[in-house]
Amino acid sequence: MILIDGKKVAAELREELKQEVSELKAKHNKAPGLTVILIGDMVPSQIYVRMKEKAANEVGLKSEVIRYPEAVEEKAVLNKIEELNKDESVSGILVQLPLPKHIDKQKVIETIAPAKDVDGFHPINVGNLSSGYESTIPCTPLGCYLLIKKFEKNLSGKNAVVVGRSNLNGKPMTQLLLKENCTVTITHSKTKDLKGECLKADIIVAAVGIPELVKGDWVKKDTIVIDVGINKTDKGIVGDVAFDEVSKVAKAITPVPGGVGPMTIACLLKNTIECFKRLNSQN
Ligand code: NAD
Repeated sequence: MILIDGKKVAAELREELKQEVSELKAKHNKAPGLTVILIGDMVPSQIYVRMKEKAANEVGLKSEVIRYPEAVEEKAVLNKIEELNKDESVSGILVQLPLPKHIDKQKVIETIAPAKDVDGFHPINVGNLSSGYESTIPCTPLGCYLLIKKFEKNLSGKNAVVVGRSNLNGKPMTQLLLKENCTVTITHSKTKDLKGECLKADIIVAAVGIPELVKGDWVKKDTIVIDVGINKTDKGIVGDVAFDEVSKVAKAITPVPGGVGPMTIACLLKNTIECFKRLNSQN
């Protein structure tokens, strides 16, 4: 079994991005800028935003966090996004989810200019990805994709099973695997025989949120297993895959932590740089 070391691959990617940022700064006389909007004081969101800010600074991006109290009016957030859309020093805008109940998530996402939508959640980016056009790809599936490709160059004809159909993970992951000519099965909470589907897979991407759902006897040997799950349990953070069992069978597997998580943040930086390049392509 090969352990797919997301921490190492993410560190290599961040090094490449750092180099690219320094070249872009020299060429355009300005750095790509990432602005994060954080609403309320939920601890996980605070932690994620701090990690994103630190990573952005490390590769030389200009980063800014705009904080609002939980009770902020929706209109104030939308106005700020409109302002950032027009601000030439901002290449990427990210609104940290989840949002307080009184704020309409879809309205917020749709207010972000598609060209600055570093999360790839805007319907224009979602549509472009599913049509095979250039788009910003959501950070976690992009990270999974890069890990798979690092390990296996040619995915054509492989059977891929995506467990979970969220807009954040499962659906964009499916699009990326389809683009690589995989035969993709997307499974979810109503799938009748999840074990049977997983047993046909050459590649499994699990993005469910159920600790250790995918078991050792669900996986055939030679399968690549990518575990997106981050679940807090009594024994610490575990993924959606029963690592101890599955790692005995699979050809390759990502650990949790240290697998997909570090790639998500590195891909956010990558997306910010891609947005900057597209926004400045005429200069
Ligand atoms: P979600 O709750 O939005 O979606 C979960 C999906 O799993 C749904 O489509 C549902 O149909 C499916 N599902 C539920 N029960 C199932 C079952 N018994 N069998 C098969 N499918 C089932 O979750 P999400 O936002 O996609 O996140 C999934 C996991 O990934 C969570 O643990 C989350 O914390 C983690 N996550 C990790 C990262 C990272 O960077 N590593 C990023 C985002 C999310």
